[in-house]
Amino acid sequence: MSGNVNSMSGVLIVGAGFTGAIIAAELKRVAGDAGKLLSVTLWDKARGSGGRFTTARCPTNAKCHADVGGQYVSTTENDINKFGRFYTGLRERGLLTDMTAAVEGASPYTGEGVRDMVAPLGMSSLVKHFLATSTASFVSEREVRSIQKTPEGKLNVATISGVTEEFDAVVLTMPVPQILKLQGDFYDQKAFEELTNRNVEYSTRFTLVLFFPDRCDIGLKFGFKFVDNDDVIRYVAVDNIKRGAPRDPAALVVHTTWQFGKDHLEESKEQVEQILLDRVYQMFPELPKTDSRKIHKWRFSQVRSKEAACEGSKTPYFVLNKKPLVLCAGDGFTDSSLNGCLESSTSACRFMESEWKLSPSP
Ligand SMILES: Cc1cc2nc3c(=O)[nH]c(=O)nc-3n(C[C@H](O)[C@H](O)[C@H](O)COP(=O)(O)OP(=O)(O)OC[C@H]3O[C@@H](n4cnc5c(N)ncnc54)[C@H](O)[C@@H]3O)c2cc1C
Repeated sequence: MSGNVNSMSGVLIVGAGFTGAIIAAELKRVAGDAGKLLSVTLWDKARGSGGRFTTARCPTNAKCHADVGGQYVSTTENDINKFGRFYTGLRERGLLTDMTAAVEGASPYTGEGVRDMVAPLGMSSLVKHFLATSTASFVSEREVRSIQKTPEGKLNVATISGVTEEFDAVVLTMPVPQILKLQGDFYDQKAFEELTNRNVEYSTRFTLVLFFPDRCDIGLKFGFKFVDNDDVIRYVAVDNIKRGAPRDPAALVVHTTWQFGKDHLEESKEQVEQILLDRVYQMFPELPKTDSRKIHKWRFSQVRSKEAACEGSKTPYFVLNKKPLVLCAGDGFTDSSLNGCLESSTSACRFMESEWKLSPSP
């Protein structure tokens, strides 16, 4: 795809989280503005879109839902000015609103001029919005295993279930350790070594969600709470209150500490779930019992240090191969937040726009 989008068989974005969705929407917008046709496809190994902005629904009550990963958006005036188009669009549609619920404990993300916003329909609605505006084709349950260069200068992408397809360019948006595990000859050796040597590390966490029936008063009045001095639980949210919907069915979201995640990484979900349940009911003895719950392990939760992610890098994305293009983007190249993903994905798009001459001709 050397500057000529008309001869392209398309771009594959691996990962339908927030980064993948923004890249899909931006590429389509830029190509559309330039009157050029660009085929954009997204594959994700999961059953749906969202990635670490996943929102889970109670299996027996669709009205009861909760954010399992990303919880809320901490943002400054600077972020809003920088990414105004995205914030305005989301706020106008009611997909992001200012948070009004009470917060307990000391939030590590609060500071002067920091404003917290929540997603009334759940954090996954932000991803779904950008996927819908992109009109890109999205296929779930496609786990990429390997990428090979072809003699014709394309990329042959294969999944673990045996699907293979050729693309002109591939954008990888999963956590860096998952990128480095992919098989195939798709990268420039020096670039691969540089990315390996950055040693981008992620924390590990578990999330436990307890779903409660309609009109069940769980007796907690905060939106979320940061817990200090507990070796198991770091954060608790009453998801419906956090989202500004206290009358919706309640859901309690519990995140473990990083250390607990690390220490229990290889234990079964059942074992970890029991430890978390015991601790939750110890912490909130009046909490009603519920059988409806979900546990999730985030092997790659959040980038541990922004410095490691950006070390030696001038760009918030990473080119693993120039021709055919294999580009990496996501919070692994900035920081683990909505703004970090916006920074990475918009910069990555500007790079592709200029490489492929997608801007309108003067
Ligand atoms: C517990 C937790 C709490 C957080 N809290 C906040 C918060 O309050 N506010 C905030 O702004 N951020 C928060 N974050 C960080 C935020 O969620 C992430 O930075 C952001 O969602 C990353 O988006 P992404 O698209 O870059 O990556 P991801 O969302 O991880 O998307 C990558 C996608 O790639 C897919 N994938 C991986 N490997 C393959 C493969 N081989 N083939 C196909 N698909 C593959 C995955 O299924 C995934 O959907 C939190 C994260 C966690 C885990």
